[in-house]
Amino acid sequence: MDQNCIFCKIANKEIPGKIVYEDDVCMAFLDLSQVTDGHTLVIPKKHYASILEVDDDVLMHMSVVAKNLANKIVEKMGAKGCNILSNANEVAGQTVHHFHIHIIPRYEENEGIK
Ligand code: 5GP
Ligand code: ZN
Repeated sequence: MDQNCIFCKIANKEIPGKIVYEDDVCMAFLDLSQVTDGHTLVIPKKHYASILEVDDDVLMHMSVVAKNLANKIVEKMGAKGCNILSNANEVAGQTVHHFHIHIIPRYEENEGIK
């Protein structure tokens, strides 16, 4: 646990998040500023700074969770597809330095890519 990390605090339920999935290894919650409706983040419960540092077994587990969740979100939200992505380090646009996978449902073409 990183005491200054906002996602560690969400994982520990110290601050609220709109949680849509949880297991022993990871959890998923709605992004605070929705790029599109249903924009969801999948995070490991353990702190890793980015995808470049996460352990392989955790990444593999989270990849399957993200895929299954993305299918459910797309279906439930009536989206036509989605972006599944992770920004690593500030130069690539990472603003929260606790590894997370974005699931961004897409409804129309040219909505703008984050
Ligand atoms: P990044 O830019 O690091 O790839 O993505 C970080 C994401 O975390 C952003 O989309 C931002 O809206 C989201 N975010 C930042 N702080 C919070 C928070 O306290 N709660 C939630 N649910 N999302 C957050
Ligand atoms: Zn953290």
